[in-house]
Amino acid sequence: MPDAKNPPRKMMFQLGLRRRGISDQAVLRVMEDVPRELFVEPADRDDAYRDTALGIACGQTISQPFVVAYMTEQLSLQKSHHVLEIGTGSGYQAAILSRLCKWVLTIERYRTLADRARKRLEDLGCDNVEVMVGDGFDIPAGVGNFDRILVTAAMEQIPDALAERLEPEGVLIAPVGPQHGVQTLVRLVRTESGFERRELVDVRFVPALPGIAREL
Ligand code: SAH
Repeated sequence: MPDAKNPPRKMMFQLGLRRRGISDQAVLRVMEDVPRELFVEPADRDDAYRDTALGIACGQTISQPFVVAYMTEQLSLQKSHHVLEIGTGSGYQAAILSRLCKWVLTIERYRTLADRARKRLEDLGCDNVEVMVGDGFDIPAGVGNFDRILVTAAMEQIPDALAERLEPEGVLIAPVGPQHGVQTLVRLVRTESGFERRELVDVRFVPALPGIAREL
């Protein structure tokens, strides 16, 4: 039973996010609602509510909760938005996004990760998410443009072709920088005359690699 000396892990999780500056109530609510323990490896369940990235299959990672909350807050999501995520990984970020917008397309280069994420999202009833095996550097024309784009793997630069997939006034957030080191989160906004670019905070993400993974 939760008591004052032993507050439930989820309450501490929320407090930690608030303390680090997350203030959007809708974002805090979904961070509380979505069970992160279902997205980590079974052996890591006890650590699911620590503010740390954890390893998942295929040598990839589920991002640190603060970074997930921060990027989500910076996207300024609305219920009408169509959102593209590049780098499905565990599917956790996609689940968070799905509760705050109309539709999410999430793309992953490892089939194993995509299949597992799809199953988790289905089990959680996230029926407005499509998980696609593909290459975020080569997005099929048929999927259209997006109000918001979130890249969750490090890119050395943001490809013009990706920025061009933003709707007018659309927002793209991506970790930009060297593949093995510290990157900076960049927020691009599509304006009438081009793009407005702002640098947010330093982060560390696994690299975005071209092509569909050959191993499963
Ligand atoms: N958002 C994830 C964490 C992402 S880790 C979560 O919530 O768990 C980054 C992911 O991006 C990895 O799974 C990696 O395989 C994937 N990735 C890397 N390059 C990619 C590319 N070009 N296209 C699609 N996915 C890519």
